[in-house]
Amino acid sequence: MALLVPEIMLNDGTSIPQLGLGTYRLDDDIAYRVASEALELGYRHIDTATIYKNERGIGKAIRESGIPRDDLYITTKLWNGDQPHARDAISSSLDRLGLEHVDLYLIHWPAPERGTYVQAWHSLHELRDAGLTTSIGVSNFLTEHLDVLAGVADTVPVLNQVELHPLLQQKELRGEHVARGIATESWGPLGHGSVDLAVEAPILGIIAAAHDKSVAQVVLRWHVQEGLIVFPKTSHKERLIENLSIFDFELSDTEMDGIRGLDRDHRVGTHPLDGNWD
Ligand code: NAD
Repeated sequence: MALLVPEIMLNDGTSIPQLGLGTYRLDDDIAYRVASEALELGYRHIDTATIYKNERGIGKAIRESGIPRDDLYITTKLWNGDQPHARDAISSSLDRLGLEHVDLYLIHWPAPERGTYVQAWHSLHELRDAGLTTSIGVSNFLTEHLDVLAGVADTVPVLNQVELHPLLQQKELRGEHVARGIATESWGPLGHGSVDLAVEAPILGIIAAAHDKSVAQVVLRWHVQEGLIVFPKTSHKERLIENLSIFDFELSDTEMDGIRGLDRDHRVGTHPLDGNWD
């Protein structure tokens, strides 16, 4: 099944599976079980973060899967308080994951009130050059933060991971990404568990019925056809299967336009300027 997941080319010459597994709010034990099931089902891309406190569980699932390391794509993220000491932070993440390198290391939030994300971006270059991560990128960055990075370093982040779903489509930011060669990852692609997209947007149910698919599958398919990278979170095996089964149908141009029309700048997570926590 994994062979069916398309790859998105990144600006450093690497590629990333367009669909993966999200792991926010899964503790070590549950992350171990869910990641094991996902890998068995064909998922090859897992998104975690230091702050999710589940890198150990994910590492155990990876080791026990027996899947060759090169066939996997693992992302983790640098937490805000660790921005001044990124090398220690990634070493600890790699220890917990039991890996020698991750595929992608992201600055989790710009946390502008802390004033350390530029320092962190310089450090990420060193981590990449040391082989501790293959690619480097950012998360929750606004255009103004991307501008700052562009002013201090030649390397462009491979991608920016931001809240993105039919009610918050980030069209302006995505335009900036395209202009700069930055790929877009959607976090909270199904509404982050905070909003019921089927209730907010009945058109999704109509489209789902027309394809004999669920609303979640239609929404994930919309992300994929938009060229976005997506990694829905679930702890249920049936939903792991459901979320992977989106490569056997296609939304028409009219359906894509219908979903594009749902955008109402409705953010359900934290605004990037406000994510300054320790
Ligand atoms: P999501 O949009 O993936 O939604 C998860 C919710 O959708 C859960 O409540 C789950 O039960 C439900 N769900 C999953 N599959 C379903 C299905 N087939 N049918 C019906 N409901 C289904 O939200 P998320 O977990 O916030 O985002 C995905 C991933 O993005 C996270 O797990 C994490 O890896 C990442 N993330 C990153 C940031 C960041 O700041 N960079 C923030 C939040 C999440």
